[in-house]
Parts: sequence; C-alpha cells; structure tokens
Amino acid sequence: MTTPTTDLLKKKIRHVPDFPKPGILFYDITTLLRDPDGFKQVVDVLAEPYQKSRVDLVVGIESRGFILGGAVADRLGAGFSPVRKPGKLPSKTVQERYALEYGTDALEIHDDSVERGQKVLIVDDVIATGGTAKATTALVRKLGGDIVGLAFLVELLALNGRAQLAGEKVYTVLQY
Ligand code: AMP
Repeated sequence: MTTPTTDLLKKKIRHVPDFPKPGILFYDITTLLRDPDGFKQVVDVLAEPYQKSRVDLVVGIESRGFILGGAVADRLGAGFSPVRKPGKLPSKTVQERYALEYGTDALEIHDDSVERGQKVLIVDDVIATGGTAKATTALVRKLGGDIVGLAFLVELLALNGRAQLAGEKVYTVLQY
C-alpha cells in the first residue's frame, strides 16, 4: 500500500547496490534512523497494529532489529529480548540452525529470555528469504512464547519470505 507515510519512509531509505556482495541491493535504514521525524514515524507505524495486543515482549533480530525492536517495545510498554548470532550472548542459550543459499547459519536466544505463555512480537528491518525470521519463531516457541506476529519495515517480495512463515501473522510496512 502507498500512503504519504510510506512514500516518506521510502525516500529516506538508502539503496546500496552490490553490498555486501555483487548482485545484492542493500536497503540501508541508517539514513532513515538518523532523521528524527523518520525514526519517530517508523516506530509509530511498526507499533500501531499491536497497540491493543497486550504484547509482553518484543524479540529483535541482530542487529537492526535491536534498534527498531527496542523502540517498538518502549512504545508498546513491552520488554525486549535480543536474538543474536552464535557466541554473542553471555548466558545460557538455545540455538536454531537454518539454511542459507550456501550452507547453514544459526541464531541464539537466552534460555530465560521468554517466559512460557508470554505474548511475543518479533521485529526486524528487512524480510528477504524469511530464513532468519523462521528460525526466530522456532527459538521463541522452544521457550514457550506465544507469537502475536512478526513486523518488518521492508519486505522484498521477489524472495517470498512469507512462504517460510505460513501460519504466522506477518506485517510489513514497505514492499519492494
Ligand atoms: P532473510 O533471512 O533472507 O529473510 O534475511 C533477513 C536478514 O538479512 C535481516 O536481518 C536483514 O536485515 C538482512 N537482509 C537481507 N537482505 C537484505 C537487503 N537486501 N538489505 C538489507 N538487509 C537485508
């Protein structure tokens, strides 16, 4: 959908061709985050659908999901827990492996970061193939969290990440 807000947010995101490798068009949100109006609007629009959902906890995915997810958590009066690449979290973790184009990667969450039955919103900046988000849903469920939805600023439609998230409630603000 196109609205004055989505148009404005799209104008503030920088497109960087061939980063981090040839053929990838990188959606760089640092240009949006440094803009006070842009930052406020992106948090408004990401949090708005969940104002009445009684979210207990926002889970943000490393690393831009920390910035957006932390601000959304504050806006919703929820807590925040990080999902990180292996070896970064200091206490006991649970891990989920997921497939990449070549090989596999893994994500971790602290094993005490979600309480059984807590209502959890997962936040990240971009959904591309959906592998990262899918692994995050598995981590939250391992700990007994009840996933209210997944919210992303940017959805790359051609990569069909939603197919990985069948049965989940997926919300995206900007589609490309
Ligand atoms: P995926 O698991 O393929 O959905 O990839 C999602 C993760 O990779 C997110 O954490 C994004 O921040 C990052 N990502 C993937 N593709 C892009 C892109 N074209 N521009 C910016 N970030 C991306």
